Amino acid sequence: MTAPTCRFCGAALTRTFVDLGATPLANAYRDPADTREEPLYPLHVRVCDYCLLVQVEAAVPAEAIFSDYAYFSSYARSWVEHARRYAMVAKDRLNLGSDSLVIEVASNDGYLLRHFVEMGVPVLGIEPAANVAAVAEQSGVPTRIAFFGRALGEALAAEGKRADLTAANNVLAHVPDLNDFVGGFAAVLKPTGVATFEFPHLLRLIEGVQFDTIYHEHFSYFSLHTVERVLAAQRLRVFDVEELPTHGGSLRLWVCHAGASRDEAPSLANISAAEHAAGIDRIAGYAGFSGRVATVRDGLRAFLARACAAGERVAAYGAAAKGNTLLNVCGIDAADILWVADANPHKQGHLLPGSRIPVVSPERLRQDRPDWVLILPWNLRREIATDHAYVHDWGGRFVVAVPTVAVVA
Ligand SMILES: [Zn+2]
Repeated sequence: MTAPTCRFCGAALTRTFVDLGATPLANAYRDPADTREEPLYPLHVRVCDYCLLVQVEAAVPAEAIFSDYAYFSSYARSWVEHARRYAMVAKDRLNLGSDSLVIEVASNDGYLLRHFVEMGVPVLGIEPAANVAAVAEQSGVPTRIAFFGRALGEALAAEGKRADLTAANNVLAHVPDLNDFVGGFAAVLKPTGVATFEFPHLLRLIEGVQFDTIYHEHFSYFSLHTVERVLAAQRLRVFDVEELPTHGGSLRLWVCHAGASRDEAPSLANISAAEHAAGIDRIAGYAGFSGRVATVRDGLRAFLARACAAGERVAAYGAAAKGNTLLNVCGIDAADILWVADANPHKQGHLLPGSRIPVVSPERLRQDRPDWVLILPWNLRREIATDHAYVHDWGGRFVVAVPTVAVVA
């Protein structure tokens, strides 16, 4: 068997970052009547010795992942607010108006672009999932059903649809052909255009042992150090970077053409220095992660064993992809956790992939009164614990498992 190669620089990948074993696709929610064996795919994360890109092999075609995508961004309230603020900041910073064009790649149900529409700025969404794109069209967001890359970027430019601003939130990690994808932005941006990219920051993943954010649909995990090289290969340049609290700690890059006259913000040097201090701008900084994952796994299993021994009942909240990695890597199933409550009606009535834990309506919290509620999307723990504070009425408590088992106060 030949070693896989780096999706950015093409070097052979010989170094393991963490091997999480074989698990089902994290978004493959199951029909309870379906008794067929679930396909398992290796979740072996490697780091490139040369460019330091942390990556998972694309074991599954993108079409299998995205064609019937269960995630509708508008169901996460804090994410909708995040999008609204972004739209206001970007409009002011770039002086966007009725003669501008904002293109969002992986525009989902139009949760972000609708804010530009309300401000009178023309938009175009690019979204591969037809069912999700249809929802966007209904809410007044023109959407093209397509995968983005260099060919589409060039085609849009040829149609006169060149962008003053492109947005790509939490999509860079999902792209199998990274160079082709990033090349699309270079093609579709006006000479003065700006691209923004948001993605979970690898520095936070490593510091916070956020291994549950690793799943098959996330092919790449970026430091500023490495993403700057990926962009430079397409003659793009980062001129500003912000740290965001989303997804456990993300970066938002502000990117222009390499030759554009935009000054570099001081934040670039600050974040580069933080990455250097953590050692992730060199290969030695990637050692030891596997052992830290094992410690988190042992901690969660010990917590469940204690609860079981004490006769306490444990439920979960949030049927998020990251919960599925956590449960499957830790070997947890419906014998350990009663059910997982989720507000998204598209997930209710299904089983979580692998663990086969049933997804139910949040109403079940009041009916079953569990002693513990394990919040799987720990990045939303405040929002979830506040919305369901009535759990405390019967002495129930919220808990998270990453980076260590902790009660949510
Ligand atoms: Zn590489």
